[in-house]
Amino acid sequence: MKRAAALFAALVMLITAQSCASSEKTADFFAMDTYMSIKAYGGGDAVERAETLVFELERKLSATDGASEISAVNSAGSAKVSQETAELVTSALSLCELSGGALDISVYPVTRAWGFTTGDYRVPQEAELEELLRLVDYTKVTVSGDTVTLGEGMLIDLGAVAKGYAGDRVTELLRSSGVKSALINLGGNVQCLGRKPDGSRWKIGVQDPSGSGYVGVIEAEDEAVVTSGGYERYFELDGKTYWHIIDPSDGRPADSGIISVTVVGASGLACDGVSTALFVIGKEKASELWRENGGFEVVFVTESGEIIITEGLSGRFTPSGGREVSEVIRRNEN
Ligand code: ADP
Ligand code: MG
Repeated sequence: MKRAAALFAALVMLITAQSCASSEKTADFFAMDTYMSIKAYGGGDAVERAETLVFELERKLSATDGASEISAVNSAGSAKVSQETAELVTSALSLCELSGGALDISVYPVTRAWGFTTGDYRVPQEAELEELLRLVDYTKVTVSGDTVTLGEGMLIDLGAVAKGYAGDRVTELLRSSGVKSALINLGGNVQCLGRKPDGSRWKIGVQDPSGSGYVGVIEAEDEAVVTSGGYERYFELDGKTYWHIIDPSDGRPADSGIISVTVVGASGLACDGVSTALFVIGKEKASELWRENGGFEVVFVTESGEIIITEGLSGRFTPSGGREVSEVIRRNEN
């Protein structure tokens, strides 16, 4: 009798495991200017709905799509937008403030001048940058009700936070559709829901910014793992590399000694904004910002190939290929 019961239990487990495996669904698509992939276990048609959601968000938020809500704001200087967009702009502005302006959603005239939004790359003259920088100041962007208003001549772009926000929305959609386990990769913005179906934590690779492969692996569950790097979008001219993250203080590609920043935390939106900001300010200021604000952990890769992590990732980050962590940043400096 006991044996029969055990056999029966084993059979049930086998069937459940198989039905779990067979209900894996994936969607691979190109949106927000990058390759995306959503893999979920269970949830019916949730993956298809998630893909549709990402395209909807792109149409609403893309600064380069003339029909988007952000374009409406940019062309009129003030426009009524959906409540969702108004809230996202408000959240983005708080991240701009948190970063002391290293993240600035109004840097768009400058990124545009470099050609990063269109692919028509060029190096703007100093005088041109100076002129454009006068338009960059997120404190002159206001949200009142559902109306977003910009200062004279200003333009905004949510490119530094949109994928993180989309990741949050996709995670929510999957979760509310009954999905317990999913991996969402929106072009370097990874978000995981729950754990892997086998109960272990998701292993998220941190891409090697100066080659192929990974510098290490982060174990994560119910978290966003977001990387900003100079290797994602850049152009080369006369032997110099210019990448798409701009330091709003001088209008030039950020040159902080960091070539990739990976931020781990509960909110995709916050991780996305913070990763862009930390890339701009570099390791020292980034460490201060991390000490002053809880809720996220960081992996830095420096120009010289050093890997630096914040202490919350100790035991959760494993360097790959014989690499080592050169420094662990601690809450209490000593
Ligand atoms: P990616 O979009 O490649 O994942 P990020 O999240 O770091 O990278 O965002 C970079 C994008 O944000 C750029 O393509 C540009 O549109 C915009 N951007 C560049 N520099 C800044 C900045 N300092 N503040 C806000 N947005 C920026
Ligand atoms: Mg970002």
